[in-house]
Amino acid sequence: MRLAVFAAAVGIATLGAVPGSAAGADKLYVLDCGHISAADQSRWSPGINVGVPIELSDNCYLIHHPQGWFLWDTGLPDAIAATPEGSTAANGALRVKRTKTLAGQLDELGVKPADIKAMAISHTHPDHIGNVELFPQAMLYVQKAEYEWPGADGASRFNANHPVTLLEGDRDVFDDGSVVIISTPGHTPGHQCLLVRLPKTGVIVLSGDAVHFKANWDNRRVPPFNSDKDQSAASMAHIADILAKENGQLWINHDKPQTDAQKKPPEFYD
Ligand SMILES: [Zn+2]
Repeated sequence: MRLAVFAAAVGIATLGAVPGSAAGADKLYVLDCGHISAADQSRWSPGINVGVPIELSDNCYLIHHPQGWFLWDTGLPDAIAATPEGSTAANGALRVKRTKTLAGQLDELGVKPADIKAMAISHTHPDHIGNVELFPQAMLYVQKAEYEWPGADGASRFNANHPVTLLEGDRDVFDDGSVVIISTPGHTPGHQCLLVRLPKTGVIVLSGDAVHFKANWDNRRVPPFNSDKDQSAASMAHIADILAKENGQLWINHDKPQTDAQKKPPEFYD
C-alpha cells in the first residue's frame, strides 16, 4: 500500500514528462494548406534532377493539448483558394494553389480561429505564414533571429500587434515534453522544427523546410537559396540525432508522397 501511494505521488510529479501519458498532446491533424508545382526540382537540389518537375504538398498541423489547441505553420494565404487555377510565385518558378482553406478545415473540425491558444511557424516564407493573422489572439512562438530578419524593403515580417514570444533556442510549449519547438537555423536565420510526442504514435518531428523532400533528406542536400549552408547541414544532423534518440519519425512538410499517405481529417494521429 505504501509503495502504491509512493508510486502515485511520483506519477503525479512526473506525469507530464512520461511518454504516453494522457496529460500531453493527444491529437494531431494534418491539414491541407496548399499545393506547389515547380518545373525544375533542382531549385532545391543543386545539380540534381535539373529540369525535372516536382509537386509539393504544403501542410499545416493542428495539435490538441488539454491546455488548448496549437497550430504549427499556416500555409499559403486562404485567399489563393478563390482562384482555382492558382497563381505564380518566386518569379514564375513556382505555381501555388489552394483547394481548401485553413479556416474551412478548422470549421469542419468544429474549431474556431479563436480556439487556437498558441501557434508557431517554421519560418517566414509565404507558404508558411499565409494565415497568421487569422488568429490575432494566438500566442505566436518565433525565434528572435527570424522576427528580426528584415523583410522586403527592410519591413518587419510580422504584425507588430500580434502577441509573440521570442525564442533563442528550443521551447517546451506546455512544459510536459509533448510539444517542443526545436531551433534549426539555416533555411532561414530563425528556422525551427516541432517535436510532437503522442501517446500511441510516439515522437514525430515536423520538418518545416529544414528539408523539402525525402531524396534531399537521404542525401542531406541543401538548397542554394538557404540563408546559411553550414547551419542547414548542422540542423539536419541535429534532427537526425533527435530521431535516433527518440525513435521518432520525420514528417517532411513538402514531401507530397509522404503527405498523400498520411491520415486526413476527420482522422487524426493520437
Ligand atoms: Zn516551404
